[in-house]
Amino acid sequence: MNKKIELLAPAGDLERAKTAIRFGADAVYLGGKRFSLRSRASNFEIEDIAEACKFAKSYGAHVHVTVNMIPHEEDLEGIEEYLQILEKIGVTAIIVASVAIIEIAKKVAPKLEVHLSTQMSTTNLAAIEFYKNLGVDRVVLARECNIDQVKYLAQNSPLSIEAFIHGGMCVNYSGRCTLSNQMTFRDANRGGCAQSCRWKYHLYKDGKEISHEDCLFSMSSKDLMAVDYVYDMMESNVASLKIEGRMKTNYYIASVVKTYRMLIDEIAAKGSNLSAERLAYYRKEISKAENRPCADGFYGGLPTHKTHLYGVNGAGVTHDFVGIVLAYDETKKLARIQSRNVFKVDDELEVFGPHINNEPFKVKRIIDQDGIDINVSNRPMAEVLVPIDFKVEPLDMIRRR
Ligand code: SF4
Repeated sequence: MNKKIELLAPAGDLERAKTAIRFGADAVYLGGKRFSLRSRASNFEIEDIAEACKFAKSYGAHVHVTVNMIPHEEDLEGIEEYLQILEKIGVTAIIVASVAIIEIAKKVAPKLEVHLSTQMSTTNLAAIEFYKNLGVDRVVLARECNIDQVKYLAQNSPLSIEAFIHGGMCVNYSGRCTLSNQMTFRDANRGGCAQSCRWKYHLYKDGKEISHEDCLFSMSSKDLMAVDYVYDMMESNVASLKIEGRMKTNYYIASVVKTYRMLIDEIAAKGSNLSAERLAYYRKEISKAENRPCADGFYGGLPTHKTHLYGVNGAGVTHDFVGIVLAYDETKKLARIQSRNVFKVDDELEVFGPHINNEPFKVKRIIDQDGIDINVSNRPMAEVLVPIDFKVEPLDMIRRR
């Protein structure tokens, strides 16, 4: 069993990179402003990537950078210099989806590991062998493999294998979709996906509308949640478990990373799979991050209509996240909290953080910045004092139970 399996988390900006690492990720992946899918949304200048590398190193963690656009001729300008800079500032690996970029990386920045993006839809050993000969170090499997295929490939592959365990799925074959290109002229394979599959559409048959205003059609997929498959992946020596979601919030990253960290560590300590009850506990923990419906993607076999959200886009942010700990006075047992959602006296909350696992407490008092007792904290970003009997740390997160 691979007890040291890597937990790989997404980072949309430096704050989220640090959160993911603090909450237990062994590595983060992020995209710079060029050469990456999601480049439009990237907040990473080179200095930020360098800072992420420095921070990761202090935790023994790693930074992977997505260089995963499908480059047209003009897109390759400046790539050599960019890769050399990434190598110099301490990036561990680049994630690529182009044989041209693999070849350039091997030539100009040989210390960078090359990880083959899921966009390349790798589903068999012959393809892995082919990429090995090009100098690829790791393959991120296509999300369209079922769990038996993942196990077979991980056990027989000459390269290390990375598999997705959580996050958004493309309703089309990953990376082979032109919906966004058609609808918005934004190229999904050059960083511009507008998520057109999740829009709401009017449906017509023979010129007559068959959809209803209150339930327009969308073709969004449910998110992947692979809690039930982590043991199989560890047992078959998958090298890395990947969470999707570079656009997700800091709270989402903390919740999902923390939960999978606990799950991996519990399986590693036990050396076998967990009981149905424990797996149900972890599925419930994950659902606290966001209330977008989840399914097991392709791992349980071909998806059915049950894994899709035909009538709704399914997006929904939970309001369970109520605040972040800024400081804790151990003598007075008082936490200074930055408020993020409404909470009130008598609410049942819980704290989770890098060193604390869902510790419950009841709100006995809320004291505002003027030292006055209030019943409700309802001003976003307001700082309030709340008594908590056990020790908490700055940047721990507080949510509703
Ligand atoms: S439009 Fe939807 S299916 Fe197509 S690439 Fe974007 S997220 Fe994937």
